Amino acid sequence: MQDEAYQTTDFIGGHWLEGDGEPREIIDPATGEAFVAVRDATIEQAHSAVVAAKRAGARWAGRTTVERAAVMRRVADLVRRDAETLASLVVREQGKPISEARGEVAGAAGFFDYFAEFARRIRGDILPSDVPGEQICIQRVPVGIVAGIIPWNYPAALVSRKVAPAMIAGDTIVIKPHEMTPLSALHMATLLEEAGVPSGVVNVVTGDGPSVGAALASCDDVALISMTGSVRAGKQIMRSAADNLTQPSLELGGKAPFIVLENADLEFAVRSAVTSRFMNCGQVCICNERTLVAQPIFDEFLERYVELTRTLRVGHPMQETTDIGPKVSLPELKKVEAPVDGAIERGARPALRGGRPDEPPTVGGYWMTPTVLVDVPQVDQIMQSEVFGPVVPVVPFADFDEAVTVANSSRYGLSAYDFTNDFTKEMDTVTDIDFGEVYVNRIGPESFQGFHTGYRQSGIGGDDGEFGLDAYLRNMSVYDNYARHPVGAQMPYGKAAAE
Ligand code: NAD
Repeated sequence: MQDEAYQTTDFIGGHWLEGDGEPREIIDPATGEAFVAVRDATIEQAHSAVVAAKRAGARWAGRTTVERAAVMRRVADLVRRDAETLASLVVREQGKPISEARGEVAGAAGFFDYFAEFARRIRGDILPSDVPGEQICIQRVPVGIVAGIIPWNYPAALVSRKVAPAMIAGDTIVIKPHEMTPLSALHMATLLEEAGVPSGVVNVVTGDGPSVGAALASCDDVALISMTGSVRAGKQIMRSAADNLTQPSLELGGKAPFIVLENADLEFAVRSAVTSRFMNCGQVCICNERTLVAQPIFDEFLERYVELTRTLRVGHPMQETTDIGPKVSLPELKKVEAPVDGAIERGARPALRGGRPDEPPTVGGYWMTPTVLVDVPQVDQIMQSEVFGPVVPVVPFADFDEAVTVANSSRYGLSAYDFTNDFTKEMDTVTDIDFGEVYVNRIGPESFQGFHTGYRQSGIGGDDGEFGLDAYLRNMSVYDNYARHPVGAQMPYGKAAAE
């Protein structure tokens, strides 16, 4: 089974350790076979990673941002040097096509470059005081220790998305990758070490959510829990965070509406809708999960949509020509089958019926070909719950108001798409749509300098850009009464105190 030897599965305080927890087989989704076994960390090891992060904190925060950025740029270069190795690792443990994995790894490097740019851009504020001879400075200081809990669908890029802002902010961090996909994070840790990131600044512990993840989320010393994952786990983490009043930043699921208005460029909209649904086998939080199409163009759109979807090649993810790799795991595949079967039982009609292929690219892989459904009522589960697979309902709407109403009627509020050539309608969408991220005539991925944020149950807080960096910093107000004037009567509620 073991064709790659990962003897060490945790990176704590600059030391590579074998977890003391249960052994866990890492499965190649393209074959269904284990190719390496790692040992989970224990709860004690998770705590020791937090202790290591705490020890490293003051010295790291004491370095100038320019010094921190220099190390980060070295990390970016090393990620690029190892791009092909990392991309293959992403494919092996997660199953996305190699062409997409390369894009993910470019993103993993890019986050370090981007956040290094903040070396001279973290700004506080200076305000005039009510007291003569005093300045009020709002300083931006590190939050302290961050727990970065990440999912399996982008196992390399999401490490960088948490680590890079933490590093430039002067925080230290403990990363917990998803239990199915720990290898990319462990490889990233070797690069962080090689780049000269001081011991304890970045730590990686492996293991599952209810044990290792929960241990980090409920740890009193953790100042920020930055988690990307499901709504279910996000709620559990928030409950744990509440006990210690730890700040949560939660990037959760989505049910993105993809609105195509009557005057849209049809060819462009069809291509975009297909890519946005089927990339990474539909396992992206911002994926097109509900395609909403103006009634007058519905039939033509559907025909072209199905036609193009049929051409997508489901194949081994290491093949350059593959469009759709396997689902990440058998349970995840079954999770997608259930709502499709249910919707069809309730009357939905498959315009294209996919599922497990009769002639799979390999025996044992978690293959799934695309399904396109029509005649799906808005109340159906498949219109309401995130599916996270190569399945999409396509629904007509009568007018713009109906499209927006249907789009907004969701407990998720992460991403929404609008394809139109009408500038007024573009602006109307931006005004009326109630989602954290709106893509007009464009699909994802999001940009480093944007703000990736979800409304309603899609999360709290957000990642990326200057606004994402905010979560990794705290404000400190410094009253500098350099003239040593007595302070009291001038203050809004100071008189009584002065008397
Ligand atoms: P998941 O919630 O099962 O796991 C995410 C992480 O949380 C894993 O590391 C897991 O071990 C950990 N975890 C689970 N329960 C926990 C607990 N009680 N305490 C602490 N940690 C816990 O999600 P997943 O299946 O890995 O990922 C798929 C989900 O992630 C989808 O819903 C997808 O939409 C979402 N996602 C969101 C974004 C975004 O940016 N909004 C990006 C990618 C994925």
